[in-house]
Amino acid sequence: MSNPSLLILPGDGIGPEVMAEVRKIIDWYGAKRDVTFDVSEGLVGGCSYDAHGTPLTDETMDKAQSVDAVLLGAVGGPKYDSLDFSVKPERGLLRLRKEMDLYANLRPAQCFDALADFSSLKKDVVAGLDIMIVRELTSGIYFGEPRGIIKEGNERVGINTQRYTESEIARVARSAFELARKRGNKVCSMEKANVMESGILWRDVVTEVHQAEYPDVELSHMYADAGAMQLCRWPKQFDVIVTDNLFGDLLSDAAAMLTGSLGMLPSASLGAPMENGRPKALYEPVHGSAPDIAGQGKANPIACVLSFAMALRYSFDMGAEADRLEKAVEDVLADGLRTADLLGEEGATPVSTSEMGDAIVAKLDSSL
Ligand code: NAD
Repeated sequence: MSNPSLLILPGDGIGPEVMAEVRKIIDWYGAKRDVTFDVSEGLVGGCSYDAHGTPLTDETMDKAQSVDAVLLGAVGGPKYDSLDFSVKPERGLLRLRKEMDLYANLRPAQCFDALADFSSLKKDVVAGLDIMIVRELTSGIYFGEPRGIIKEGNERVGINTQRYTESEIARVARSAFELARKRGNKVCSMEKANVMESGILWRDVVTEVHQAEYPDVELSHMYADAGAMQLCRWPKQFDVIVTDNLFGDLLSDAAAMLTGSLGMLPSASLGAPMENGRPKALYEPVHGSAPDIAGQGKANPIACVLSFAMALRYSFDMGAEADRLEKAVEDVLADGLRTADLLGEEGATPVSTSEMGDAIVAKLDSSL
């Protein structure tokens, strides 16, 4: 069998810094677990624009289509703010998502015990929290036509259209049910069926897919506004939440912040299964390129490390190794090691980006 293949796209700002720590972990797997990844590296975002005049070349796009998984750092920065919209760094990321047809965006919200005090909610509300939001990523109001700003009489009118086909809803529902089977076996679907026709269709299709293919999974429905309230009131009631592009954008950010710092949050975007049965996949931290701290050794690499752990689980069928890596992160935090974004408690040990990576590798070592 061929080695698992991975395309690494560090990107801009702190992207290369946090990716360097993932490289250490990949090397550790080669040296200590006899797992060799075929790793290739490419440019995306501003650095690709600097080198090639485009935020993503066709060659890199082709490579992304041919590997088992893509791991991306972050793109963007003030240097590129005045570029034309068509070549802005973010266009590289959007092209990857669109051409790989990554329709299911997985955003875990998991609270490590050692960081429960960082949440703005009470400790007992968030301690042990482990939920997964599945957001539809390639359709809905961000893509629907007609759209634009038109003139009506003397004033301008802004228009966006919420549009979902049955098959778009069904495929993301399947992603959520499949995930739930590997977790707590519960899905809560969120829409606004009380005021939106697309919400009525969403609820119908999710129910149909459930009855026909996943009757063993517990399904509930909630209006998205009530869901937002419940996420803040008692988030531990949820296991997997599936929702559309717009509501998922808002709910996943809210859920993520229940758990503390932006530097801790991984994500995965999955598409249709490839020939090997695994989904096309792009893994990336939720944070951006953090130009305010780039080059200073202050970035927290954990979001990128946990994104790689998601790749182990969902692209490489290495669930036990993903558990091992997540446990290593948990242990490092339990020891009180903190990058600058997590400082504040008494007794914490401040560490740099690279010291945090080394500490995670040391915990991996001691797990053997
Ligand atoms: P950001 O996520 O880069 O930073 C927000 C704040 O969080 C900053 O104070 C930053 O220092 C901090 N932060 C972020 N990641 C951190 C980490 N790993 N460790 C420690 N602190 C961290 O968001 P922004 O400042 O709004 O955007 C900066 C640039 O990143 C912009 O060009 C934006 O377009 C781009 N961006 C890219 C992505 C992406 O690549 N997916 C996502 C969001 C923003």
